[in-house]
Amino acid sequence: MITAGPLASVPEAPVRVNATVAGASRGLGGELAVARVDLGAIGENTRWFAARASGAALMAVVKADGFGHGAVPVARSVLAAGAAWLGVARTREALALRAAGIDAPILAWLLEPGLVRAAVDNGVDLSVSSVDDLRRIAEVDSSRRAFVHLKLDTGLHRAGAAAETWAEVVGQAARLEGQGRIRVRGIWSHLSHGDVLGHPNNVRQRDALCAGVEVAGALGVHPTLTHLANSGGVIQIGASGCSMVRVGAGLYGIDVFHGRNGPSQLRPAMTITARIVGIRRVRAGEGIGYGHTTLAARDTNLALIPLGYADGLPRVAGAHGSLWCRSRRVPLVGRISMDQCSVDVGDLPVTVGEPVTVVGDGTDGAPTVADWADWAGTIPHEILAHIGSRVPRQIIEAD
Ligand SMILES: *Cc1c(COP(=O)(O)O)cnc(C)c1O
Repeated sequence: MITAGPLASVPEAPVRVNATVAGASRGLGGELAVARVDLGAIGENTRWFAARASGAALMAVVKADGFGHGAVPVARSVLAAGAAWLGVARTREALALRAAGIDAPILAWLLEPGLVRAAVDNGVDLSVSSVDDLRRIAEVDSSRRAFVHLKLDTGLHRAGAAAETWAEVVGQAARLEGQGRIRVRGIWSHLSHGDVLGHPNNVRQRDALCAGVEVAGALGVHPTLTHLANSGGVIQIGASGCSMVRVGAGLYGIDVFHGRNGPSQLRPAMTITARIVGIRRVRAGEGIGYGHTTLAARDTNLALIPLGYADGLPRVAGAHGSLWCRSRRVPLVGRISMDQCSVDVGDLPVTVGEPVTVVGDGTDGAPTVADWADWAGTIPHEILAHIGSRVPRQIIEAD
């Protein structure tokens, strides 16, 4: 028989706990599973990057709901820790931060045609890659001036003006600036190999951006900000003469070099705990889970964990992964399903309701985000960004 644990209603707002009571509230409360977000770690990581930005301003990248940690609480803690700017992909992400009362400077780099006016009205800076982008922004009827950051493609070949269109884009920006329609606040680009140690593209792209800034100067465009480096870029080439850096992954404790640059000094901010909701005895040879991909090798006990691929556990990780139960690794068995997975706990005297660690912070033997990424053949960023909204975030405030 599978014994069901108590069902919990999932609150809509993140559960906020104060660090002073964190020790006492580290349990799961009434939840089946909780993703704990340690804002102290995010603050420390922010200060670590700020110290390596050699005087340049820090833009904290809080796109994709702050890499799954919660954009609003993350934004508040990075700003308190010294970040000057926030960066997001879509315009709507920036507007959500404004709606939450965050008035720090924000850059959004994926222009949403239906939200250009709202962005300008709300003082959200927009990225520009083309004359078309400029036209869209300049034709907005707002009482506020639109602030833009001209993006030059220096080699990533994603967004940004191609080198051969740069002078045209800058020239048009200069005309619109002269008419008082826009203000060019920044010139920027994005690295293709920031997380590849010693890759020559990093300095090549830096040089290309410098050249682009010079062209702009000659055409009368003098922005106050230039920015290029991401997490890996800051560690490898610092701000590279720019006045700002844009850091995402590292703020959340991701080591973008996977240990190849020595032990990481960044602290993972998210840990995930789930309670055992059932214990099932299986006999040697019995099949486990959908398709019976695993047959029990011996008589054993399975613990049922109420997290599945809809919560962000990669389905392919079922073949290699393990969780942390009573200070040891217990292997996942059978397929990870949409809502649940099973681990082989052998003869451990586990009980229904007790917690297991699904994602740890690297301080014990529990699997880390990097382990999950290895099992799934991906990067930690994807694991974190996929942790589902069904898993309540428990925000641990910094001291
Ligand atoms: C995601 C992103 C960043 C942050 O990069 P990390 O490697 O996560 O530090 C910076 N700039 C742009 C344009 C991005 O899309």
